[in-house]
Amino acid sequence: MFPRKRVLVTGGSGFLGSHLCARLLHEGHEVLCVDNFFSGSRANVEELMDDRRFELIRHDVTFPLFVEVDEIYNLACPASPVHYQHDPVQTIKTCVHGAINMLGLAKRLGVRIFQASTSEVYGDPEVHPQTEDYRGCVSPIGVRSCYDEGKRCAEALFFAYRRQHGLPVKVGRIFNTYGPRMLPHDGRVVSNFIMQALRNEPVTIYGDGTQTRSFCYVDDLVECMIRLMASPEDFTGPVNMGNPSEFTMLELAETIIELAGSRSGVIFHPLPEDDPRQRRPDISLARKALGWEPAVPLREGLKRTIAYFEEALKRA
Ligand code: NAD
Ligand code: UDP
Repeated sequence: MFPRKRVLVTGGSGFLGSHLCARLLHEGHEVLCVDNFFSGSRANVEELMDDRRFELIRHDVTFPLFVEVDEIYNLACPASPVHYQHDPVQTIKTCVHGAINMLGLAKRLGVRIFQASTSEVYGDPEVHPQTEDYRGCVSPIGVRSCYDEGKRCAEALFFAYRRQHGLPVKVGRIFNTYGPRMLPHDGRVVSNFIMQALRNEPVTIYGDGTQTRSFCYVDDLVECMIRLMASPEDFTGPVNMGNPSEFTMLELAETIIELAGSRSGVIFHPLPEDDPRQRRPDISLARKALGWEPAVPLREGLKRTIAYFEEALKRA
């Protein structure tokens, strides 16, 4: 039996955070969930509230936090382009001040800290698929820069704390992840398409739909985060976390329409500024260092996600 730990999850009432909290509780740990509810909600962790090992604190990570924990997962940050572009200054503060505050906490406590970084550090990549040594093609001034450069700065901070203070850091670069508890209206492609398909409304394709993404089911992603945290101390990452199966947005739309049994057609809208053309992780490092491989194929994950949204629509 592994020892019970007290684990801090920032952004714990968001989409990924809520699944991570549930998994950590399931493994017998105590969980301290910290969130300012910018893009997450109490509803996401409602079913965890009855567990005495779960604690929820409303707090903005741009302000210092003084708690006693054994491990930190730093997930706080809106992930949907619609959300992170809504208040770009706050997004940068969350990425940068949030990282400084959580790293300071980890340093005081001498504990491991995981950073939820992102494939967006590669920007609109000229290298395909993306390996961890690729340095990216990011606009420092574009509409996505608050998030992309914020996350790049956070990575720089994590490795500065590693070099300067010997802090045990773990950096995961998360590629597009989907699953139950995504917000129905957060603007991300999977939730948008599913909601539109379930309502038999036109499915909105931005651009010509030939841009690609690779989608990872949330349970696979959480497994990868847990493995990274448990990996030997000298393995810091950055490590790509995602499913290397790549699809165009047109293929995604067709699959969702079919699986939802929908009468929707597709409608084309202008492509947002700086929208990456293609994205696919090279996960050789995660395979080798963590023995990790995604297990849930897209169609299976989409079925589960569609079922969740169907239930949510019935309750609404
Ligand atoms: P999400 O928006 O559902 O969750 C983020 C959570 O952080 C929300 O609950 C939000 O309220 C909280 N938050 C935001 N700013 C905060 C602040 N200043 N203080 C405290 N809490 C704050 O997004 P998600 O998909 O769950 O993403 C979680 C993390 O994973 C983010 O850091 C994101 O950048 C990263 N990530 C996610 C994906 C993905 O596909 N889901 C891809 C790459 C990276
Ligand atoms: N997209 C789309 N229709 C939508 C929402 C998004 O065609 O209703 C496209 C978007 O332009 C991008 C891809 O889907 O090319 C993934 O978008 P998302 O916002 O989910 O994530 P990100 O761009 O950050 O990978």
